[in-house]
Amino acid sequence: MLIVKKFGGTSVANKERIYNVARRCIDEYQKGNDVVVILSAMGKMTDELIEMAKNINHNPSKREMDMLLTTGEQTSVALAAMAFDALGVPAISLNAFQVAMHTTSNYSNARLKRIDTERIRHELDQRKIVIVTGFQGINKYGDYTTLGRGGSDTTAVALAAALKADACEIYTDVDGVYTADPRIVRNAKKLTEITYDEMLDLATLGAGVLHNRSVEMAKKYGVQLVVRSSLTNEEGTVLKEEVKVERMLISGVASDKNCAKISVVGLSDKPGTAFRLFDALASANINVDMILQSVGRDNTQDIAFTVVGDYADDAVKVIEDNKSRLKYQKLECEKGVAKVSIVGAGMMSNPGVAAKMFECLYNSNINIKMISTSEIRVTVLIDEKEVEKAVNAAHDIFGLAD
Ligand code: ADP
Ligand code: ASP
Ligand code: MG
Repeated sequence: MLIVKKFGGTSVANKERIYNVARRCIDEYQKGNDVVVILSAMGKMTDELIEMAKNINHNPSKREMDMLLTTGEQTSVALAAMAFDALGVPAISLNAFQVAMHTTSNYSNARLKRIDTERIRHELDQRKIVIVTGFQGINKYGDYTTLGRGGSDTTAVALAAALKADACEIYTDVDGVYTADPRIVRNAKKLTEITYDEMLDLATLGAGVLHNRSVEMAKKYGVQLVVRSSLTNEEGTVLKEEVKVERMLISGVASDKNCAKISVVGLSDKPGTAFRLFDALASANINVDMILQSVGRDNTQDIAFTVVGDYADDAVKVIEDNKSRLKYQKLECEKGVAKVSIVGAGMMSNPGVAAKMFECLYNSNINIKMISTSEIRVTVLIDEKEVEKAVNAAHDIFGLAD
């Protein structure tokens, strides 16, 4: 069997943890399996590198940021290889160049396009454990790129797909996917299984336990994905196309504080207005999330939307740069807002789920700034300070507690 195992930052945070990872991989290797290991940067190293960069230059270039951040993963794979060596098991570390892992060209948020498997296969054939850097790739200019925060999960799933691995295991600091972030909701319940679609929504809406693109890719290529703890032998959560267990109305609650609301006030109420605004943002590679368009009045209308918090300043700049074309009266950017979402396939056949969500927010005296829904989710935008209260209230009202 070929098994891909990915370990996140806390799982390789220090010497003991690195040896723990090595031992877990060796157990698998000694059963005769081929083992490919994907590692994240140690502990909070990525955050620390970002701080170091900001200390030098408030607005560092994205290329140089990726050059810097890729050193985090390179450090952990090399140290892990040394640990395997000390334990007497042949292993080799490889970075994105050595593999090679080809991505799109956009720094800081690149997408994996193609992974060469020859080098990894060659090393596995020599009966080595292959340790690969997560989160990074190379682009057509021959530069390092990164896949966005949390992107090592996506490296693991993409490699599992490229190598046609028999299993892909994501080891982290919780023992599976819960009904809500267990750090926010104390009585959150662990799910034994979850559908790709529900997990994709939870991940996209802020459940940082998996990078959303890793879920997208697992679904697309049918990769059997398990999320489990690197420190215990608990079973973990299995991702599947369909799940057997009886579903609650809602499978989980997610929240995302990395969010900003931008309002463009006094746009002209004519065909093409929304197109011009969102086309300008799309051309600058800025993803827009929730969108609210006001009822037109006196030939003007307002459009408000949310973007990932890190892109708020970029979005404002793009709109200001296009002011003469967009013709608006006022531009406002509100940071300190957050999304809270409920997700569940069960809501498709049950009316009243959104109303229940709004009711519980009302009972908690929380004001809703924006709403968006799909067949299997309801998202509200609220003040960042109220997130814990809102997530717990929603978790309670839908009876998700353990
Ligand atoms: P790693 O470094 O292993 O990739 P992350 O910090 O990226 O770990 O992801 C694990 C964290 O995700 C957990 O510590 C937990 O706080 C958070 N999390 C958010 N939502 C959920 C959820 N629904 N289930 C489990 N963990 C969640
Ligand atoms: N080290 C990167 C991060 O902290 C990637 C990852 O951990 O998945 O975002
Ligand atoms: Mg992660």
